[in-house]
Amino acid sequence: MYHFICSNLDCSFTKKAPVESGREKFCPECGYDLIWKCQACDKPLRNEGAKFCSLCKGEIKKQRNNH
Ligand SMILES: [Zn+2]
Ligand SMILES: [Zn+2]
Repeated sequence: MYHFICSNLDCSFTKKAPVESGREKFCPECGYDLIWKCQACDKPLRNEGAKFCSLCKGEIKKQRNNH
């Protein structure tokens, strides 16, 4: 499950609910890019493919729909 947040930190979408499908590229509310979020510390991530958060060293759990 992907967790994206809006790169516009003032956007209310960020505070509402993360996008979980990974299909959306842009915020449906303001049109900014959606970016990864660390599930541990809730900080936005710069590296899409990162396995660990550079801030809290937490593991980024990401799963594609490969069932
Ligand atoms: Zn937004
Ligand atoms: Zn983190």
